[in-house]
Amino acid sequence: MQLPIYLDNNATTPCDPRVVEAMLPYFTRQFGNAASRHHVFGWAADAAVDLAREQVAALIGAEPGEIIFTSGATEAINLALQGAFEMYRTKGAHIITTTIEHKAVLDTCHRAEKLGAEVSYIPVNQTGRVNPADIEAAIKPTTILVAVMYANNEVGTIQPIADISAICRQHGVLFFTDATQAVGKIAVDVNKDGIDLLSLSAHKLYGPKGAGALYVRRKGPRVRLVPQVYGGGHEKGLRSGTLNVPGIVGLGAACAIGLKQMEADSNNTKLLRDKLEDALLQLPQAAINGDAANRLPGTTNIRFAGVESEGLLMKVSKEIALSSGSACTSGSIEPSYVLKALGLPDEAAYSSIRFGVGRFNTEEEINHVVKKVSEAVIELRSLNPFWEG
Ligand SMILES: *Cc1c(COP(=O)(O)O)cnc(C)c1O
Repeated sequence: MQLPIYLDNNATTPCDPRVVEAMLPYFTRQFGNAASRHHVFGWAADAAVDLAREQVAALIGAEPGEIIFTSGATEAINLALQGAFEMYRTKGAHIITTTIEHKAVLDTCHRAEKLGAEVSYIPVNQTGRVNPADIEAAIKPTTILVAVMYANNEVGTIQPIADISAICRQHGVLFFTDATQAVGKIAVDVNKDGIDLLSLSAHKLYGPKGAGALYVRRKGPRVRLVPQVYGGGHEKGLRSGTLNVPGIVGLGAACAIGLKQMEADSNNTKLLRDKLEDALLQLPQAAINGDAANRLPGTTNIRFAGVESEGLLMKVSKEIALSSGSACTSGSIEPSYVLKALGLPDEAAYSSIRFGVGRFNTEEEINHVVKKVSEAVIELRSLNPFWEG
């Protein structure tokens, strides 16, 4: 076993060596611009992009022509929300989302509000699930889009996506889902799930950073978006700019591996996650944040009463890489807005730790994490004058 142990796979994942292998030729020998129409360098790059488009589409049950490559999920989210708002705002400017979305969704919604959108932020229950009836109740004649994440990055809660999308369909409202944490981990199918727009990111599924995609439904209904990046008309005019061919090849390879190994990966990470969780819940006054029944296989978020998570993370940081929540908001002194949205008081939010088990974690690592985290919890509690467990 090698130290430090990486257990923050919801923030990012290491590249699978097979992904790196697939990417390498596209930095050197096959360096062509995929838009070069008059030579073999361009054709080779274009063919590699075509294959990647098929691989991404296959993972989510889409057609290759419905995949728009972006620099990651954040850009895909911006294109989906802002692009739909600009396209349909004459029809209506109302967007519905939830309080536990990733900042990429929430900040884009705030921006849209500044530009004239009206956004409803639907609360979730104590386990982080949104009630589809609450979505339905919020729909108005001016509603154009509903945005609900597939699975949450902090607590792993999976949303009732098919139920929500069915409501959207009935009311003629587009449905967008940020599936960045779900794809490659659980079965996602844009048709079975009734999804019109979907964002995903390579670096959350053992691919490279700086590559992602937006799925844009082409039939029943055909979704139209106003582009957010101009110049050259790449990606059907929806996202101009020379394609990141190595990154896209990596994303494609990551999706192909993810599809092939989904069951094995999911079984393995769930086994390790459950082992970790069962052991840590032996500690007094430790409890799960999230939805035990509807949850990503590798994620658990645990609160340890009487322990400040920052102190615990520091204490174990030489040997174990963990976090208290989203990488984008960690480092801030505010408690997690996701945990607050689940109804946790500040104190409980401040004592919560996120564990993200991934494809490359081993049982030996989990045993070590259990030992070190348990010791740290016990020690920090013994130093806490207010702890009387
Ligand atoms: C990581 C993440 C994002 C942002 O993805 P990037 O590719 O890093 O921009 C968006 N949504 C969720 C749920 C995420 O976990």
